[in-house]
Amino acid sequence: MTEHAPPDTRPSTGPDAAGRRPPAGEADVIVVGAGPAGATTAFYLAQSGLDVLLLEKSRFPREKVCGDGLTPRAVKALVGMGISVSEQDGWVRNKGLRVIGAGKRMELPWPELASYPGYGLVRTRHDLDETLARRAQQAGARLVEGVTVTGPVRHERTGRITGVVARAAGEEGERTYAARVVVAADGNSSRLSVGMGLSKRDDRPLGVAVRTYYKTPRHDDDYLESWLDLWDGDRLLPGYGWIFGMGDGTSNVGLGLLNTSAAFGNTDYHALLRKWLKGMPAEWGFTEENRTQPIRGAALPMGFNRTPHYYQGLLLVGDAGGMVNPFNGEGIAYAMESGEILARTITQALARARRAETERVLAGYPHALSQAYGGYYALGRVFVKAIGRPGLMRFATRHSMSRPALMAFALKLLANLTDPRGDAADRLVNGLSRLAPNPE
Ligand SMILES: Cc1cc2nc3c(=O)[nH]c(=O)nc-3n(C[C@H](O)[C@H](O)[C@H](O)COP(=O)(O)OP(=O)(O)OC[C@H]3O[C@@H](n4cnc5c(N)ncnc54)[C@H](O)[C@@H]3O)c2cc1C
Repeated sequence: MTEHAPPDTRPSTGPDAAGRRPPAGEADVIVVGAGPAGATTAFYLAQSGLDVLLLEKSRFPREKVCGDGLTPRAVKALVGMGISVSEQDGWVRNKGLRVIGAGKRMELPWPELASYPGYGLVRTRHDLDETLARRAQQAGARLVEGVTVTGPVRHERTGRITGVVARAAGEEGERTYAARVVVAADGNSSRLSVGMGLSKRDDRPLGVAVRTYYKTPRHDDDYLESWLDLWDGDRLLPGYGWIFGMGDGTSNVGLGLLNTSAAFGNTDYHALLRKWLKGMPAEWGFTEENRTQPIRGAALPMGFNRTPHYYQGLLLVGDAGGMVNPFNGEGIAYAMESGEILARTITQALARARRAETERVLAGYPHALSQAYGGYYALGRVFVKAIGRPGLMRFATRHSMSRPALMAFALKLLANLTDPRGDAADRLVNGLSRLAPNPE
């Protein structure tokens, strides 16, 4: 282990006679990308005394396309990092999920559990991501902003990753950074994983969603709101929608589609959003004049849609490893939780004396992920296939929206909120997850 040093911002010197450049920075671990997954990984690694370089292409604070909704799972992850989530510190609390579908609405409070707090939050990614990155820095991680990683550095003979090549904003040429292990926390497209030959899997779910913000009197809603069916007059549109009050005069409004939907890939998402919002009550103010941000979209990689999560010294975390929950599109909690699982694995691995032992511990990371989410995500993949059939989805919505007990169960299942030894609903969700076939 090395001592914490200030960020290394020196330009790399030129190549030697053999064409090799000395690394601009060395560390025990390089984490590429300082979103929720990377910042959390770096935080826990630094806390256990490792020297961590956290490389981020943008500069904080920065925007990120998101719904900005945080369930009790994410609250737990934030609290675990010692982050104050009080209202005085700018966090807006919610009590649960309001579901709208089949012409009905139902308010479902977050379940009362020992394992998770009974409230959720909203926070813009502009604020959330900077808070997490600064927390990692406080713990001792060396955050370098404005550095885009362009590819892996690999051992000539074994092909193992030994570092990364990067380009710093406003600088000529490229730098290299070296480390014992490298973490890909660079989000959905994960160029670093692709550079190591790890592409997305076509047999796993993927969503695409767009969102924007409107000035609206609904901004201080104390429930997250989810729309199960979207209508343009009497025509059913594809997809699912959300309206999350930001508490600052605006609401985050968006919609998404899954790749099991027939409309996926041939939909104009902007037009779809406008059609859906046209039918909203005028007093909510979801009009072009009240829109405060451009409509922007991105993909949601779900249900482990990039594997293996460990390959030749590279470990995948968060969206890079396709860890969004297929049931509800939530990704922040899973990015943070997988970051903690990964950091604990690396800490144990790098403390082993022999290389073969280190390797054995690192190779256990996919299994640890599978233990945490494998069965649940396998169920999620079945769910995603089922709701891709509009008839089945309409039947399920009509049937469940008049049954509050069934919907309370559905909330536990869809938001993955149960106690290990909880009530009958908890035991059913846990039992189903355990029984589901669980390939890594
Ligand atoms: C429209 C939409 C709405 C969503 N709504 C919600 C929601 O309400 N709640 C929820 O929990 N989840 C939501 N999600 C999912 C959530 O946004 C992601 O799951 C989450 O951001 C994953 O975190 P991450 O750290 O893995 O990746 P990211 O947040 O994508 O972070 C990756 C980081 O890596 C950096 N990076 C990328 N490439 C490089 C490179 N080459 N070099 C250096 N740095 C690099 C990026 O700048 C970024 O900072 C939504 C997603 C979308 C698209």
